[in-house]
Amino acid sequence: MSTTNEKKPIIDPFGTTIIEDYNHLYEEFGIQPFRPLLNQVPNPSMYMRRNVVFGHRDLQCVLEAMKNHKDFAVMSGIKPTGEFHLGTLMTAREVIYFQNQGATAFYCIADVEAYEDNKISFERSQKFAVGNVADLLALGFNPKTGYIYQQSKERRVQDLAIIFGRGATLATMKAIYGERHIGLYLSALIQAGDILMPQLKDFDGPKPTVVPVGVDQDPHLRLTRDLAAKFRRKYNFILPSSTVHKIMKGLDGSPKMSKRNPTSYFTLHETPEAIAKKISNAFTGGRDTVEEQRNFGGNPEKCPVYELDMYQFVEDDDKVIQTYHDCKSGKLLCGEHKNQTTETVLKFVKNHRRERRKFLDKAREILQNSQT
Ligand code: SF4
Repeated sequence: MSTTNEKKPIIDPFGTTIIEDYNHLYEEFGIQPFRPLLNQVPNPSMYMRRNVVFGHRDLQCVLEAMKNHKDFAVMSGIKPTGEFHLGTLMTAREVIYFQNQGATAFYCIADVEAYEDNKISFERSQKFAVGNVADLLALGFNPKTGYIYQQSKERRVQDLAIIFGRGATLATMKAIYGERHIGLYLSALIQAGDILMPQLKDFDGPKPTVVPVGVDQDPHLRLTRDLAAKFRRKYNFILPSSTVHKIMKGLDGSPKMSKRNPTSYFTLHETPEAIAKKISNAFTGGRDTVEEQRNFGGNPEKCPVYELDMYQFVEDDDKVIQTYHDCKSGKLLCGEHKNQTTETVLKFVKNHRRERRKFLDKAREILQNSQT
């Protein structure tokens, strides 16, 4: 039950998202809790095990398909506005997780949205896209059972967006996205096309499709599910499902990592010195003095350094739990923990970059062959 001093969550895929309590989202937006499904999920990812994936929409039909070895798809993508960062790392890994469980995987380079939302020209986004696709491949995406494409070159997505335009009134778009320029409404319709394209005849028709999203992207799922229901008779669409993950806090203590605020995040392609400096200067949940920390312990729940471990960089659950308790008990100090996390992050980044170099040519080839 909400109290008057609790702030209402704000979810805006084109702007600010502020969530103080994820539990509100179950009541307010109809997102379903993920935790009760955990024991039905084969080989759950660390995001799932750690409740970073905290919600879903209709995931049961995808789980049924997985269990019965039926066709299903996973779909997500990236806005090519820069290098891979920790948010895009999360969705890429989630796509790869479902691909490894048998899904046909679709990964979209959302260059129309990058143009409409971030004013990035198509020429510029093409350059970022090559690096982004190489990152995806280096993380383990298999192009043999997956389809990578650019929105601006994928005619099937554009056709769906045109058709969906008849199913969305201005009032609906305003209710979901607020008052925006028409280009953003158009890019939302194109995203609906992205999400439903895996169900077209060209890709063997209707099938359960899961879209792993950060909670800030949930409005696109609401719109697309509405459109899928409206156009069900024509296409026989199955309403798309989603998994919904939490958003990482900014390293500077802000509620969310944001490109508008470079000290709040790092990309996988900044220099090791720059990454180390950002972690070293990060806000923590620690106390003002060493003595206080030893006596009263820190607060990992509020700490972005703990989130780096827990969300992304420490695979071993026991190790994460140990860090939590060592922080709470005052055994672990922030300086020591920041050094450990920096070492772990830089090791990952170094290995990842080495792998990524091997995939740059393949990434160029995939994008060149993108449909027009
Ligand atoms: S010890 Fe680590 S987890 Fe605890 S507050 Fe400090 S940096 Fe955060």
